[in-house]
Amino acid sequence: MSEHIQHLSGAKFHAQETKGLYEPVAPPALGATAERSSKHNIAEAAKIPYFQQWREAAHQIKRYAISNLDKLLVQFERNLSAKGVTVLWAEDAAEANRLVLEIAREHKVRSVVKSKSMLSEELELNQVLSDAGIEPVETDLGEYIVQLAGQRPVHIVTPAIHMSAEDVGRLFAARLGEPFTAEHEQLTDIARRHLRQRYLEADMGISGCNFGIADTGTIVIVENEGNAGLSTATPPVHLVMMGIEKILPSITYLPVFLNLLARSGTGQKLTTYTHLIHGPAPGRRMYVLLLDNGRTNVLADMAALAALFCIRCGACLNACPVYRCAGGWAYGWVYPGPIGAILTPHLVGLKQAGILPFASSLCGACGEVCPVKIDIPHQLVHMRHRAVSEPSPARSLTEQFTWMLWSWFMCGPRRYRLAMWAVRLGVRLAAWLPWHPGKLGAWTRGRQLPRPPKAAFRRLWRQVESDE
Ligand code: SF4
Repeated sequence: MSEHIQHLSGAKFHAQETKGLYEPVAPPALGATAERSSKHNIAEAAKIPYFQQWREAAHQIKRYAISNLDKLLVQFERNLSAKGVTVLWAEDAAEANRLVLEIAREHKVRSVVKSKSMLSEELELNQVLSDAGIEPVETDLGEYIVQLAGQRPVHIVTPAIHMSAEDVGRLFAARLGEPFTAEHEQLTDIARRHLRQRYLEADMGISGCNFGIADTGTIVIVENEGNAGLSTATPPVHLVMMGIEKILPSITYLPVFLNLLARSGTGQKLTTYTHLIHGPAPGRRMYVLLLDNGRTNVLADMAALAALFCIRCGACLNACPVYRCAGGWAYGWVYPGPIGAILTPHLVGLKQAGILPFASSLCGACGEVCPVKIDIPHQLVHMRHRAVSEPSPARSLTEQFTWMLWSWFMCGPRRYRLAMWAVRLGVRLAAWLPWHPGKLGAWTRGRQLPRPPKAAFRRLWRQVESDE
């Protein structure tokens, strides 16, 4: 589990880390870009007449893979080992970080180039490496930008979606000493120039993994910038960080996932580069670190199994009205948006993140765009049920008391009338007040209180009946 989240009790996580869910603060650029991207990707997918069949096929393949994880992971390890890859297993973040540092010490690593890996965000690996005197450099442009800015990614595919070209220009001027520019090409040229030397100097490259193929022992990495190719091939040591759910049974199934991932993630037919890594190059060392970090918690909950089908395309984030307003940081941990609201409570525990499944309007947009057909809305409802049945911040004493009170008022016509009278009075009073305290204040800052009608429904109904 992340050091960061370990330090937070459930109540603190709720109060500090998810504050943005109650008081949305995402810059308007984030919402607008996410919405534009979602519309574009949906339009691209709609051009494929058999897109829905692909989704169904991907769903079934992932169901098979996750249901047979034990056998497939062993087969994967066997095939990798036969090619000279060292395979390591880690149960949690602490063990994974210890193994990474052991590898780094063995190879006298002083600097690392990293290509995008959400798993390394789970481990807070950059901090761990820095603390050990090893310099980590993110090479994905978005990750590089947020690293320079000292921030965390706000999106799993486009980490710096919240920043405009002007923001990036100012950042490069301040941190890299470059003249200010807001031209996209010039900005990428600056990043390329600064990163090129880092690849050549790095002692180790660390990458994520989009898919691990069991029957061939292949690591599949997709990308658009070429940075993953350079990070994995230039340094003498390559470490792949892979969550155990990334396994696919056979390479014959790969094309359907490559098609779905590119179309749903960025609206492309295919990503610019697709790397199929079958083992270390001569004279190089390659490690694959297989990490659980809470994923087997999901396996223990059959109703939640599909949460592990996720291929991290980011489509559900872009489609989600809550994510567009709240932004990625509001979800408190690595995975934002609807999939984050499901995965985070599984991975870090309901006690810390049980509030997240409630960060959804349940409009269903996420489920409609998911390329592997995860029924995200039902997963959210399932996690809500668990959050109120098990110890979690969603099961606070205030909430329990409120529901007890509600059920008492609902159990008799007189009590119900009394409750409705009190609600109408309360709403009128609250509308009259210029300021509201606590959570009510957080709610009303972004919304308008409904104006109660002059007469109650029951009175109107009686009137209709007497007129007849
Ligand atoms: S849940 Fe589905 S839509 Fe969301 S990131 Fe995962 S694969 Fe993409």
